[in-house]
Amino acid sequence: MRSASEIARDVREGASSAQREVEIALGAIRERNDELNVFLYVDESGARAAAQRVDDAIARGDEVGPLAGVPVALKDNLCQRGIPTTCASRILEGWRPPYSATVVDRLLDAGAIPMGKTNMDEFAMGSSTETSAFGPTRNPLDPTRVPGGSSGGSAAAVAANMTPLALGSDTGGSIRQPAALCGIVGVKPTYGLVSRYGLIAFASSLDQIGPLTRTVADAALLLEVIAGHDPRDSTSLPEPAPALRGHVEDGVAGRRIGVVRELIDGADADVVASVDRAVEVLRAAGAEVVPFSIPELRLGLSAYYLIAPAEASSNLARFDGVRYGLRVDGDDVAAMNEATRTAGFGAEVKRRIMLGTYALSAGYYDAYYGQALKVRTQMIEAFRRAYREVDLLVGATTPTVAFPFGSKTANPMSMYLSDVFTIPTNLAGEAAISVPFGVGENGLAVGVQLLGPGRSEATLLAAGRVLELAEGRS
Ligand code: GLN
Repeated sequence: MRSASEIARDVREGASSAQREVEIALGAIRERNDELNVFLYVDESGARAAAQRVDDAIARGDEVGPLAGVPVALKDNLCQRGIPTTCASRILEGWRPPYSATVVDRLLDAGAIPMGKTNMDEFAMGSSTETSAFGPTRNPLDPTRVPGGSSGGSAAAVAANMTPLALGSDTGGSIRQPAALCGIVGVKPTYGLVSRYGLIAFASSLDQIGPLTRTVADAALLLEVIAGHDPRDSTSLPEPAPALRGHVEDGVAGRRIGVVRELIDGADADVVASVDRAVEVLRAAGAEVVPFSIPELRLGLSAYYLIAPAEASSNLARFDGVRYGLRVDGDDVAAMNEATRTAGFGAEVKRRIMLGTYALSAGYYDAYYGQALKVRTQMIEAFRRAYREVDLLVGATTPTVAFPFGSKTANPMSMYLSDVFTIPTNLAGEAAISVPFGVGENGLAVGVQLLGPGRSEATLLAAGRVLELAEGRS
């Protein structure tokens, strides 16, 4: 399959057309969507109309963007005007947003073609897509296993060659973890680099939108298109999108990279072996690689499971049966709210709302939420100290390869542990990339994670490219 930049070039030069690219994507979706449950909604007519507009613009000789005619899959927590958006929850069934997310507008301005909405864990709470109200997505590499989550549908769309590009959101690992489990590239950008306007909030201080792609160069291209200041998101960084594409081949010569013990310990032996081999590749490419330890990282999971549910309990209060989607009637307003939320939310979402409400309640606020915020500050300071000594950090993205359906659903803690290596980056508001590197159990994909300080995306992509090249991929 061609890369996004190759498709855009073919479309611009007349070797292909946006309409042809859309039909290729629709064909691939038709072929496997029933089996894999990747898309919750396929916008055939919207995609064809958008493709027609791109082809017309080219015929007129107008300037078209860097993603001209490139199909993109959108996680179903990203609003696109008039297109059903459910967050894989019954509570939003039937809701069509009256506006589009900034990232969707930027994709359209760049000539990209949104193909539809992908399956996910309900409200992005989960690591396997098994909490989706509409059934799990299957991993294209092995349909008996999960694709990871919560952006499992977006990762599977790319891994199954349905679309070359997808967008996901990462609150605690939801881009990097499914990317690792599906054998593709995923980037969690610096907090504020990509506008969250039109992303349905899970935990607002942690959520970031980012790319899921087959290649590092495509991730750079997609991130450049969606990044940059947006006045409609008050947490958006003030500057325009950074130059990323031009840095993909920069390499790692002269970079100092720390191999973080806490981002490896506890991982399966085959995952550890992949990280070890990645370290050798980075060293051979001229990086100075040093062993490193950041003990604070071990506190990340506990702090996350107080902060994220606390924010979620507040953010999800808006789903009350009045303003959006589902309503189940009751004798009075309170009974209607309760009946709607009882019927509309799944078990994991209810668990998070209860955890979060408890953590914020009078008498417990200081002991739980306040304490978690202190841990978060310690984490930020620990990373800051680390980045005075090294440019980047490296470790595993996930402790295991893709796991079988049902293997972690009985014990929420075992599911939460899937994100033990990815969560610290979100708490610190920093950047990280997962690159497929090596294979583990049953020949399944392993992801190696590179982490960097805020605004280090260009360096991270360049380091990811070194690993990609060593694997002989494109
Ligand atoms: N798996 C983590 C959770 O369940 C992270 C989810 C995410 O990044 N959206 O909260």
